[in-house]
Amino acid sequence: MERRVVKFGGSNLRTPEDIARVIKAVRRYEPPVVFVVSALYGVTDKLVQAVEKVKRDEAAIERVLGALYRAHERIVDGYIEDADERKRVLAAMDERVRKLGKYLLGVHCLEDIPNCADDMLLSYGERLSSLLVVSILNHHGIPCREMLPEDIGLVTDGEYGNATIDLGVSAKNLRRALGGNERYVVPGFYGISREYRITTLGRGGSDYSAAAIAHCIGASSVDLWKDVAGFMSADPRVVRSAVPLPRLSYREAAELSYFGARIFHPLTFEPLEAKGIPIRILDIGEPSSRRPRTVIGERGVVRTDVIKSVTCTEDAAVLKLFGPGIGIKREVLPSVTGAMSEARVTVRAIVSSQTSINFILSRRDLARSARIVRNLRLAVIDEIETHDDVALVAIVGEGLLERPGIAARVLGAVARRRINIQMISAGSSRVAGYFLVRRRDRTAAVRAIHAEFFG
Ligand code: ASP
Ligand code: MG
Repeated sequence: MERRVVKFGGSNLRTPEDIARVIKAVRRYEPPVVFVVSALYGVTDKLVQAVEKVKRDEAAIERVLGALYRAHERIVDGYIEDADERKRVLAAMDERVRKLGKYLLGVHCLEDIPNCADDMLLSYGERLSSLLVVSILNHHGIPCREMLPEDIGLVTDGEYGNATIDLGVSAKNLRRALGGNERYVVPGFYGISREYRITTLGRGGSDYSAAAIAHCIGASSVDLWKDVAGFMSADPRVVRSAVPLPRLSYREAAELSYFGARIFHPLTFEPLEAKGIPIRILDIGEPSSRRPRTVIGERGVVRTDVIKSVTCTEDAAVLKLFGPGIGIKREVLPSVTGAMSEARVTVRAIVSSQTSINFILSRRDLARSARIVRNLRLAVIDEIETHDDVALVAIVGEGLLERPGIAARVLGAVARRRINIQMISAGSSRVAGYFLVRRRDRTAAVRAIHAEFFG
């Protein structure tokens, strides 16, 4: 029997009208199926802020709980007509909200947010939405069962705020827990450590939850409902003539997510690629449609050696280290990357030469990284520069760099618009090449490349 995993993200759970679309979409799936849900739109952000606020301000706890309760109540009111049933569901909702209140009070009393409490608190966005979705679906004649990650054994490596799911251990647990011919609803975004601590998977983590669950139960596909029309040849807000991309390889989708079109949590692809489980991206604007906008990872149908998409991110900055022979002195790179990794800075890319090493980072990490390097006091570094007036433009496509002439066409198209390229790297991945331009040139660069390859 084919098992499917289906995920609804926060952008599918924004207004009461969105829930009608979700119900419609859910009706298309026969059991066995696992629905993974995110928190309602914006709820995780609110929880992040709330945790900080209640540290000093006890009265904020009631305000936060009240707002959360009302956001969910509003939807219950719209979808559960029967008064007794509504009362029962709201009582259950209230109980969960009160439990969250206890943790918030703990944070206030400690005037501190221990990691384990932070992750527990943030998981409440998903806990509330899964209760909401289960209650509404059951009321609408779609019987389903809520399964919490801690109860079914979705086990992680225990890293707070950025946990990785242990697929081996979880597979054994989940095959048992989710093995029936039923509809299950699982809150995304968190799992349980071996020490039985709630650990979240990083922002946007419910994509990754869905992918890991699919891996563990051997699903035939993962359907991700989004409020965007799948992947495109460029951001349609930047390039009006952008075309949809019906098929992508895992690597292409991963690189596109990495370099700009931040549609996915970065770990989403790994568990699926390992088992060849395709991802289908569906548009919640058409909840009855069976036609995915983009299919990722289906075997044998991805064209190679063409540019699929050009993308760009403003979240880029460069840390430049200069010094004679710095690029070949063996100790420099390990000390710098070691110190950065300890400080939880993610290095997005490194480009080096004989006399300089350039780290491409997220903008928010730039100043901190410069400080880290200064504190290392490495004798070979005689100058450190930081640049944040940059944007990273990337081209993505399987095999594109193996085809002669593509790089030349990209650079030519950009040069003809008199855009200065600040740094280039083409070789690090088989499916992506990227370069840096000044921020104000980014849109023109993307348009120039798109026009060159897509006409
Ligand atoms: N609710 C979490 C977040 O906002 C996880 C997710 O939406 O996937 O990051
Ligand atoms: Mg998301």
